[in-house]
Amino acid sequence: MINLKDFLPSLNIKDRKIFVENFDLENLKKETPIFVYSKEAIDYFINKVKNAFKDYDTKIFYAVKANSNINILKIYKENDIGFDTVSKGELFRVLKVEKDLENTIFSGVGKREDEIEYALKNNILAINVESFSELKTTLKVAQKLNKIANISIRVNPEVNPKTHPYIATALKKSKFGVSFKDALLMYKLAKKEKYLNPIGIHFHIGSQIFEKEPFLEALDKTLEFIKVLKKENIILDFIDIGGGWGVKYSPNDPLFPLEDFAKKVINKLKNFEYKLKLFVEPGRYLIANTAIMLTKILYIKKNEDKTFYICDAGMNDFPRPSLYQAYHYIEPLYQNKEDIEIVDIVGPICESGDFLAKDREIKKCQEGDLLVCFSAGAYTMSMASNYNSRPRAKEILVKKDKHIVIRKRETLEDLICREILGD
Ligand SMILES: *Cc1c(COP(=O)(O)O)cnc(C)c1O
Repeated sequence: MINLKDFLPSLNIKDRKIFVENFDLENLKKETPIFVYSKEAIDYFINKVKNAFKDYDTKIFYAVKANSNINILKIYKENDIGFDTVSKGELFRVLKVEKDLENTIFSGVGKREDEIEYALKNNILAINVESFSELKTTLKVAQKLNKIANISIRVNPEVNPKTHPYIATALKKSKFGVSFKDALLMYKLAKKEKYLNPIGIHFHIGSQIFEKEPFLEALDKTLEFIKVLKKENIILDFIDIGGGWGVKYSPNDPLFPLEDFAKKVINKLKNFEYKLKLFVEPGRYLIANTAIMLTKILYIKKNEDKTFYICDAGMNDFPRPSLYQAYHYIEPLYQNKEDIEIVDIVGPICESGDFLAKDREIKKCQEGDLLVCFSAGAYTMSMASNYNSRPRAKEILVKKDKHIVIRKRETLEDLICREILGD
């Protein structure tokens, strides 16, 4: 039996319809495609992560790239969660809800000088440095600003997380982080330089990982390396073990063993030679299962042996299926249907790769019916585009039976507002 609450803990079924908390999605039938977030579900995952790590000095940093809407960021800020960012644009967003960047980490494999300057000027907690050249650039900017740069170094612990190759980041051939050998040289340089203050170490091994073992292996290797640093009199303040915890997209996905994982991590840190603060950076885990996308079936089309539900949301709104062959669970809004059929659920975009689901078993629908696409909170709206000149969708946040608009639907004028018509 599929439990829809596995995909959205605050979901309810009433009058044979899906509700988000106590909000009736039928109210949105003229507003598709639309993203609906649940405050209760956001709080649920915040508490789950906080509880798992409550027995250790842990700070949570939400990875902004998973969903960067400033209303979502505001909720995390109100819950004492910091931010992990990868661009000046994300830093700018954080500064809409925070007075400075004292609770923000700046990661990313290719930071420009002006981005590093922006981070330092706004008192960034730490810059996660990913190469020797970037360390030198950081030093140069810090000297220019006459400001000490707190840095951590992203190491590549070379573990295989067994996830989709596009989201594995710690294989030997990966572009992310540096080897322990290079990291040692970088820490030594940083220790020597007055304008660099090495305070932490960081790894992030990939995304949508369900097993705790690759993380624990990476942690062990990194702790061994911290012992080497200690011999060089380099004492760190924190270890940042990244994010990447898997979430439920398909009924077959397991649940990430968060509590067990946290216990094992805490145990290792409690037994370590000296006290290190723990930083974690979940993105997907906090936000993926807090939202749904509602879309309408415009047409049903049958070709030889295939049936297509052609929807008003496409790969520009909901890019993960086309981008990663990702599975998202989809269910009709009305729960009074009996017959099952196998269909392709597709968008209106002129690409064969434009689909929400392929060869999917679903309760038989009619034209005009609404579909609820689950696990829509992470890497969906933040990856949405205007391809085919389609305005991006509206987003609302539900609290009980009420809602607020957190992003207006784009207009046709928005589509061309940066374009200049020459002679
Ligand atoms: C993307 C990213 C994360 C978050 O990954 P999730 O899979 O969303 O948890 C954390 N840290 C860094 C450095 C990242 O690039």
